[in-house]
Order: sequence, then C-alpha cells, then structure tokens
Amino acid sequence: MDSTPIMSQYRRIKSAHPDELLFFQLGDFYELFYEDAERTAKLLDLTLTSRGTTKGPRIPMCGVPKHAAESYLAKLLKQGESVAICDQLEEPQAGKGPVARKVTRVLTPGTLVEDAFIEQSSDSGLLALSKGSKGYGISYLSLASGDFYLGEVQDSREFAAELARFNPSEVLIVRGMDTSGLLPMSASLQELDELDFNAHSAERALCAHFAVSSLRGFGCEDMALGVAAAGAVLKYAQRKVGQNAAHVDGLRITQRSNRVHLDAITRRALEIDLRPDGSGSPTLFSVMNTTRTAMGARRLRQWLRAPSRVIEEILGRQTAVSEIVHTHLDNPLRELLGEFGDAERIVSRLALRSVSPRDLVKLRRSLELLPQVRTTLGQATAEYLLNISAKCPDFGDEVGLLKRALVEDPPALLRDGGYLADGYDAELDRLRGVQRSAQGFLQQLEADERLTTGNPNLKVGYNRVHGYFIEVSRASNVRVPDHYVPRQTLKNAQRYSTPDLKRFESEALSSESRALALEASLYQALIDTLQSSLSALKEAASAIAELDALQSLAERARSFGFCAPAFVKERAIAYKGGWHPVVAEHSNTPFIHNNLKLDHETSLLIVTGPNMGGKSTYMRQTALIALLAHVGSWVPAEEASIGLIDAIFTRIGASDDLTQGRSTFMTEMSETANLLHNASAESLVLIDEIGRGTSTYDGLALAFAIARHLATECRSLCLFATHYFELTALAEASGIQNVHLSATEHQKEVVFLYKVNPGPASRSYGIEVAKRAGVPGSVLTDARQELDRLESRITDSGTSEPNLFEGNPAAKAMSEHIEHLLDRLSTLNADTMSPREAHAMLYELIAAGKRALLDKSQV
Ligand code: ATP
Repeated sequence: MDSTPIMSQYRRIKSAHPDELLFFQLGDFYELFYEDAERTAKLLDLTLTSRGTTKGPRIPMCGVPKHAAESYLAKLLKQGESVAICDQLEEPQAGKGPVARKVTRVLTPGTLVEDAFIEQSSDSGLLALSKGSKGYGISYLSLASGDFYLGEVQDSREFAAELARFNPSEVLIVRGMDTSGLLPMSASLQELDELDFNAHSAERALCAHFAVSSLRGFGCEDMALGVAAAGAVLKYAQRKVGQNAAHVDGLRITQRSNRVHLDAITRRALEIDLRPDGSGSPTLFSVMNTTRTAMGARRLRQWLRAPSRVIEEILGRQTAVSEIVHTHLDNPLRELLGEFGDAERIVSRLALRSVSPRDLVKLRRSLELLPQVRTTLGQATAEYLLNISAKCPDFGDEVGLLKRALVEDPPALLRDGGYLADGYDAELDRLRGVQRSAQGFLQQLEADERLTTGNPNLKVGYNRVHGYFIEVSRASNVRVPDHYVPRQTLKNAQRYSTPDLKRFESEALSSESRALALEASLYQALIDTLQSSLSALKEAASAIAELDALQSLAERARSFGFCAPAFVKERAIAYKGGWHPVVAEHSNTPFIHNNLKLDHETSLLIVTGPNMGGKSTYMRQTALIALLAHVGSWVPAEEASIGLIDAIFTRIGASDDLTQGRSTFMTEMSETANLLHNASAESLVLIDEIGRGTSTYDGLALAFAIARHLATECRSLCLFATHYFELTALAEASGIQNVHLSATEHQKEVVFLYKVNPGPASRSYGIEVAKRAGVPGSVLTDARQELDRLESRITDSGTSEPNLFEGNPAAKAMSEHIEHLLDRLSTLNADTMSPREAHAMLYELIAAGKRALLDKSQV
C-alpha cells in the first residue's frame, strides 16, 4: 500500500465517500485512484495510468484537467454516476506536508441544481420507493425546483405510471430490494440502509424539516409507506448537498383522482414530450412550447405530463389563457418575460447556499421587473392572473441590498474576489485601498530604483513562490546597491529583495488575503440575510413560471387558431374540425380536419380505412385534444365539448419487449389486459390494430371480444381502429358505430382523402401502400394474383372477406343455436329415456328450432 502522506489523506477522505467517484485535486488536475480510476477511465474513455509505489503493486490512476472538469462530470452524471469533488483548500508550500483538502460538493444525478449539469427545460429529481404488504410508497423530490411529492400505489402497474410521470434521474430503494419488473435496467439506483426508510424516523425528519409537530397538516399521517419514502428522499438529499434545503417548503400528495391517469405506454404512444427514439422534438411539448424562460418551459412540461381532473383548476387556467388571447396580452408578456432569468433555480441554489454572485445579479434584475409584470396584468380580471399578480411584490429591500452589495458584472469565480461592490463594507474598502495604493507604491519603487541604480531595465515583479522582487538582468552589468538581498538566481537575471520591499510585501499580501477572506464572509452573510425572503422569492418565481406557461398556451392558441373547449357534465368528447397539432405542424401538405362525437349513445367507434389512411392520427388527435383540454389549454379544433375523463389508455403499435422476456403478441395482450382491467366509463381508450400478432381467426375472435367488453363492460369512450372488416358488424349493437377514413383510386394509385365518414370502409389498399413503400414489382404482381384468387374463392362462397361470423351477429347466434341443438341430439338415448324426459326434451328441441328460425330471419 502507498503510504505517502497524500495517499493516506486520499484514503481517509475516500472512506467517507465509498459510493461516489472521488475527484481528488492534485494541482491543476482532478485525479482518481484504484477502482474509481478503472471505472472512470472506462466510462470517459480516458487513459488509465498508474502511480508508483516503492513497495507493493502500482495504483491505477486517471485524471482530468481541473479547468475542463465540468464536461467530464456532466458525462458521468448522465451515465448515472455520483461524484464527490475534493478540492485543495490552500496553495502548496514547501516542506509543509500535503495541503488541506475537503469534499466541497457531492454530485448525484438526482440532486443537481447547477445549470451546467441539467437541462434547462426539465428537472433532475430523486424518487424513493418503499415497499409494504399493501403496495408501494413513493416520494419525488426535485432540489432544482423545490417540488416535493408523496404518494402510495397499489401495484407495479400504478408505480410504472408514477415513474413515467416524474421521470426521476435517480431512484432510492432499500438495500437488497428486488426491483425486477418495477424499474428499467437503465435506472440509476441508490441502495440505502433500512433505517433510512424507517417510517418513524422519516416522520421525525419531515417534521423537523418543516418545523411542525405532526404531518397532519399535509394530509399524509395515514400514509406510512409514502412517509417512509419521503423521509428517505429528504434525508438523502440533505446528506448529499450538506444543507437542509429550506426552499423545499411544501409536501404534496399525488392523488390519482386529481390527475388524468396516463400510464407509461400511453405517454409513449402520445409522444407528449418524448419520442420513441428518445428525442424531444417534434412532440406535443415542442409544438406547444413558446415560453420565454426555462422555468416556464418546465412548468408547461409538468402540466402536459399531468393533466388535471380538478375542474376549478382547469377552468381557472383556461379563463386566464382566454383572457390573454382576447386582450392580446401575450405580446407584451412575452417581451417582458424574455428579460427574466431562471429565478426558480437561482432561488433553489440560494437555499442550498451554492448561489453565485452572477446568479444573485440575475435574480435582482428579475425582481426589478416584477412591478412591470403587475402593470401589464393591471387590467386582468381572471382570478388566476390576479393571483399571479399578487405573488409579485416589489422586493424593494432585497433589490436595494443586492444592488448595494454586488458589482454589476461579477467574475465567474469566487476565488479571486472582486464581486462585492465598493461602498458595501468599510473594512473591505480599506483593505482594497491598501492593495490599490500598493500598485502605485510598486510603480514608484521601480522608477526610484531605476534612477538610483542607473539601470533603465530594472523591473519590480511578483511570483507566488518567491513573493515581490527586483529583477536585474545579467546583460545590464550594473552593480546593485548593498542593501539588495539576493532572492533567486535565473539564467539571465538575478532577483533581489530589499528591507522596504519585504515590509511592503507582508502588508500587501496580508491585506489581499484579509480582503478575500472578508469578502467571502460578507458574501455568506448576504446569503444568510436573504434566507428570510426565501419563501416569498420562491412564490414569485413560481408565479412567473406559471405566467410564462399560460402566455405560451395563449400564443399557440391564437397562432394555431385553436378554440376554447366547453366542459360538460356528461361523459362525452365531441369536436368539429379537429386536427393533430404535431402532425399538422410538421407536414408539408394541408392537414384535413375531422369531426368526432363520442357520448353515452355512441361510446365506441370502429375506425376502418386503408393503410396509411390516417386512422392512428385521428385517434391520437382525439387523445391530444382531450389532454390539452384537461391542461386548461385551448384545443386544435373549430369547436369542442368535453366531459372530465379519468384516464387515457392506449394500445397503439406493438414491439417486442425482449428484455422482459415478452414477444410482440404477449406485449400486446399484457397491455390490453391492463387496459381492460382499469378503463372505466370516464376513460378514453384508443385501440389500434389489436390481435394482429396471431392467427387470423384467433386475432379476429379476440378483437371481437375485446371491443364488446369495452362497449358493454368498461363502457369507456373508445376508438377502435382495425383492418378486420368483420368487426364492422358490431355496429349493430347498441353504443357502437362505424366510421372510416376515405380513400379513392386514381389511375391505379390509391389517393388518401383523410376524411372521416360514417360507415365501414370497403378496402385496405395494402398492396398499393406496399408499392409506395418500394416493395419489388415482382412481389406486388404475385400479391395481386394471390389477392384475386382469394377474393374469387370468397365470392364463390358468397362472402366478401374471410369471414368468421358471416358479418352479422344474428348469423353467429343462429349457428350457435343449431350447434347447441345438434349437441343435445347427439347425446340422447331414446331407449333409456322415461316418457316424462322424452316429453321435456321434445319441448326443448322445438324451442331451440324456433330460436334458430328467428335468427335466420334476421340474417
Ligand atoms: P396504418 O393502418 O398503416 O397503421 P393509419 O391509417 O393508421 O395507417 P396514419 O399512420 O394515421 O395511418 O397516417 C399516415 C400518414 O398520413 C400520417 O403520417 C400523416 O402524414 C398523414 N395523415 C394522417 N391523417 C391526415 C390528415 N387528416 N390530413 C393530412 N394528412 C394526414
């Protein structure tokens, strides 16, 4: 083992940070050792070197330059790693042993607040998961925004929905917990001790943090599992940032009943803010986002990810959006909001005491704009806007203090000082005065010495190791005065000191270091003073974020020509002239608008039409219209009326989920099972192409049964797209109707009209679409011949498609009755029947025969 003092110091510090990669400052580099080095070298593709030891094996080592550390750290954090930064606290001095070092910051993927490490428009957050006999407790905390949630879910499916909603950067679990089926392999996991999840100590930690005697005020005193998770998440965050996070000043309960439930599959299918390939655009969020601040973008994203079911909240936002649209307030608001910094994150950093002087100057500039926000909203009448206005006071004291305290353009690094303004503190001014006069003293000294020695090349200079010196070049060949004391010999020059210079040096250096120390402590005091304004600052920042999100919704509503949806009491989704906001925006051809009506009379529409005819688009636009309405936004339609829905479920497209050991068909059926179990009469359900991954008859039979179950048992509002034309026969049943996407043929080419019309479609045009996709001509010719052969066979047998139930439920019922009749007959034994049994059987057979005849008349 390397027992040099530096390595002993390294081992001591590392032992306190076993779970983090330790970035250990050695001069201009951060170095990593042992397994940390091996791991980091692999993750960052660095060269692994080694540090020599006199005895024993060499120590693996790798490093990154300190000035470029940020980009390396960002890469590690993105890969789910946690890092402890250990800095040198002083300059090395000869013969003094290793310099003092200390861990100055622990960075974990879920506790980041620095702009350099997190995307501006989304939050990094922590999610803790606790497990009990009745389900799971969850808690989500974002230090960057101060949001803190707690909840309980019954099973892994509900947990998956919450996980998708919060999309945390780091998940905390109790050590050894089995997370298979719960968390994706890619999740960045931290295993904590059982004690961290103890409900009692969690309650104590939460009560201490919020300075309350019980959690009753948060409405979670009966949620032991949720409280356990919330305690774990809070304690972990406090440990990592070394602060108590005073800006986390509220704890909200995630209640399924307050939000439109969107499970992970639905979020993926609707591409709310993420596309299947992981990119963020084009998505609903990217199209709807014209916010001017990063905090406004985050707020809008949150709203789209968790649409509300609370009608007051929805209408509150909608009225505000409408007022902004009607009064054209969005333009002045946009201009004003463009001047704001990310006050929300700056306030979070202020609470965690990692705020920089530059941050505080930005905060001050934002605060100075608040009176203008109030003036701009001066004529507003919507309650939501009035509330925002009320949360934007002047902050005169804070603005005055920050103005006095900080220079207008502070340096990026605290280390070199110079960020506090002159005039803020008398002692600081005095020490700075000494330094300034020092500059003059040195210039004067140089001039004097040049004169007295007659050497015009003599220089007065400074370096860190040797301090102040007078430098005389060898070439000048001039004798130096006797009081010059040699200090350093260079190849071409000799450096000296003098008693005057020595005296000056001790004064100048001590005033410089004293000024730096005083400036740092004054800055900490400034941060302390601002702590008392934290909650008001946080509220104002949050109000500005909301205003920005609202103006973005209003701006989009006007420029896209959306309408304000009416909310109705009944369960219904109806719109005229509706369109898909993302497809329409990113398409080069005009988008065809369509109508839809789903209500208690018609709750299920069977949607047929050619491949590529626009079925999926029609279904998704319906979901997005419903979703936007529940956010409080206007919607892409000429008019729309909507009843509150409790959930959106989708089964659109299928892919293998081989990591979970499920084939395409299995994935499709598990998603369907989930939906059939959970969809209610208030849910919107979208089914696209069910049952295609198995044999035709199995698939068709399943599709029939699933559609019937949705219409009669779940009674959900449902769009059911299919290429099984047999399913269109279901429209005879109550509550089910057919619509189709129209297409026509022109010179043997299919032309999509994208118009939704009543009734079933007649054909799929699959071969024409295959031709467009570039399938070879020989294959297409073969397919056409095969299609002709199949169609003529079917026409000969009197049906128009391979038809299981002859396109009619009555026909199916008749065949079932006849089958039943034959079954009964085949089991009869006339020899062993009593006259009474024979008589009864005769009645039964006559009744069955009559039923079959009745069915026949309806076929
Ligand atoms: P398939 O049955 O093959 O899955 P589909 O009927 O579900 O096809 P979509 O995927 O909805 O068809 O639409 C195919 C393409 O048609 C879309 O990507 C879009 O470009 C275009 N499209 C869909 N609806 C419209 C519309 N209303 N107006 C204009 N273009 C549209």
